[in-house]
Amino acid sequence: MVPLPEPSGALQKPRWFSRAGQMMSTVLDFIYPPLHPCPGCGLPDVYQKPETIGLCDACYAAFPWTEPHQLPPKVWIPAHYETSARKLVTRLKYHDAQYLVPLMAVAMAAQIRERLEDAAAMEGVSIENWVILPVPLHRQRQRKRGYNQSDLLARHLAFVLEFSYESAGLKRCRPTAPLYRLSRAERQQALAGSMVLNPEAIPKLRGKQLLLVDDIYTTGATINACEQALQAANPISVTVAAFALADLDSHRV
Ligand SMILES: [Zn+2]
Repeated sequence: MVPLPEPSGALQKPRWFSRAGQMMSTVLDFIYPPLHPCPGCGLPDVYQKPETIGLCDACYAAFPWTEPHQLPPKVWIPAHYETSARKLVTRLKYHDAQYLVPLMAVAMAAQIRERLEDAAAMEGVSIENWVILPVPLHRQRQRKRGYNQSDLLARHLAFVLEFSYESAGLKRCRPTAPLYRLSRAERQQALAGSMVLNPEAIPKLRGKQLLLVDDIYTTGATINACEQALQAANPISVTVAAFALADLDSHRV
């Protein structure tokens, strides 16, 4: 019996197709925003508009925005991990609410544009030459969840900001236990050496300004492990973007 040929690349969807599809659905969502319960309080039938991050008026009015002076250097995060921002993250992460990704990415992008303009004016940081990459999940956890929420946010941010995107720049070489009960020092220890750089991605990252994307930023232990691994690619700089800024106590509530 003649073996069936392997599926060729020609049978797969071309890249432009998924990009055009994403653009189309973003445009359609803008014209006809879908209705969902407010992710903050559960109020039914709220228009999922990017300008309100899909929240009802009351939740949006109380949204816990960060101020620039509350953020560590080279870390850009629009919200504190509280109230409706916390609900957005948990709905995306644990309840498969992937429709929230474009809304959350737009809130992140608005702040990134502002910070980029400030940094360009004050520190001479170029607004060109950026590559976005996500903080990876270990493949076991990704298989269990079905998706990496940081990858979804990073992918959409790259689309909105028109930055290059490298999904497989980093890999987690070993699974780590959930971090939420660990202290700052325990987190550093658990994560040290847990990320590896994908050698195939090095040419795409060398000499670039990297924007590393995660959903929540707590102590920076995960980001430190990523930055350590990225140094082998000799980037110009590594900046961090996340949706929510948490402190250690907020994970235990
Ligand atoms: Zn609400």
